[in-house]
Amino acid sequence: IQSKLPHVGTTIFTTMSQLAAQTGALNLSQGFPDFDGPQALREAVGRHVMAGHNQYAPMTGLPALREQVAAKISRLYGRQVSADTDITITPGATQGLFCAIQALVRAGDEVIVFDPCYDSYEPAVELAGGRCVHLHLSPPTFSIDWQRLADAITPRTRMIVLNTPHNPSGALLEHADLDRLAALLRGREDIYLLSDEVYEHLVYDGREHASVLRHEELYARALVVSSFGKTYHVTGWKTGYVVAPPALTAELRKVHQYVSFTGVTPLQWALAEFMTEHPEHVTELPAFYQAKRDLFCELLAGSRFGFTPTPGTYFQIADYSKIRPDLNDIEMAQWLTREHGVASIPVSVFYQSPPADLRLVRFCFAKREETLRQAAERLCAV
Ligand code: PMP
Ligand code: GLN
Repeated sequence: IQSKLPHVGTTIFTTMSQLAAQTGALNLSQGFPDFDGPQALREAVGRHVMAGHNQYAPMTGLPALREQVAAKISRLYGRQVSADTDITITPGATQGLFCAIQALVRAGDEVIVFDPCYDSYEPAVELAGGRCVHLHLSPPTFSIDWQRLADAITPRTRMIVLNTPHNPSGALLEHADLDRLAALLRGREDIYLLSDEVYEHLVYDGREHASVLRHEELYARALVVSSFGKTYHVTGWKTGYVVAPPALTAELRKVHQYVSFTGVTPLQWALAEFMTEHPEHVTELPAFYQAKRDLFCELLAGSRFGFTPTPGTYFQIADYSKIRPDLNDIEMAQWLTREHGVASIPVSVFYQSPPADLRLVRFCFAKREETLRQAAERLCAV
């Protein structure tokens, strides 16, 4: 077969979760909670299934859910977006990202991404006939090198992909970063911004999520993607949304209607109902996950791993160069899983060309307290 994606294998998330299952290790690799979403939310699905909400939702998503997303955006980010023309419910953020890229990237276009970079963007760009231009975020803070970005923009640049809070580093963009980006893009209205904000509510230490939705100038050229899976602890529901100005939304929907047409109906009913009744869920989320981060970091402080508590996401990266500098991070992740019973994700897989001296693994702390205690105990023994 003449593969259209010759470089693509099975994702590291599948590989490491499988290895964790095979070896009986604690799975801190693939990003998902080991606890359930709110009971009222789960019960609502059953109720809506029994109430006959089982046929196609509108192509754009259930109106009540789009209204709730618009209300949240107004409440948190001070932007009034139209539920009809700016919001599309998608079967997962992944599908929204894919459709946005297919809708806007043409053959020969360049898309700028920042490594370490989430794995789903590049195959989508390649299927659209485009090419990713990889820039490195600068460690240890994983910040954008603005001069390099300015230098990387060419007449072929069609899109820039942002991800804040950032997977895997947890880094956050500041509002000043968005101002800088806006200034850089002035005069290039043909460059779109795809902003992956699936961890929008997982921001710690009182910091504020610098959503592109807060930024008048950038939002005009942006598609902002989020995921109910992360926010409501139900990653298996694969339900997300894309927010974009009407003209961009119209293009996105042209693709979305033929990729999946719509999302899963009873899940949308349940989410709409839960968001109406529990608007506090999203405002309580930072404290909920910060407590987990703090516990995990406090316990990990007794280990030989080096780390700075993550500012966002439910991932903590850790430097193991004082433990097994002889192993590359893929070997390290396998060794930790097999020999010490804790599965993680090697950070190099998020790079096109990883730095040779990279000695970082990523732990997911979206876990129950007892899982975190057990994992930390094992990691302290390494
Ligand atoms: N973007 C990032 C940065 C992610 O970490 C994830 C994780 N799962 C997604 C997108 C996909 O979200 P979903 O499960 O809603 O497709
Ligand atoms: N986003 C999740 C992570 O980073 C994984 C989702 C997936 O398995 N594709 O771990």
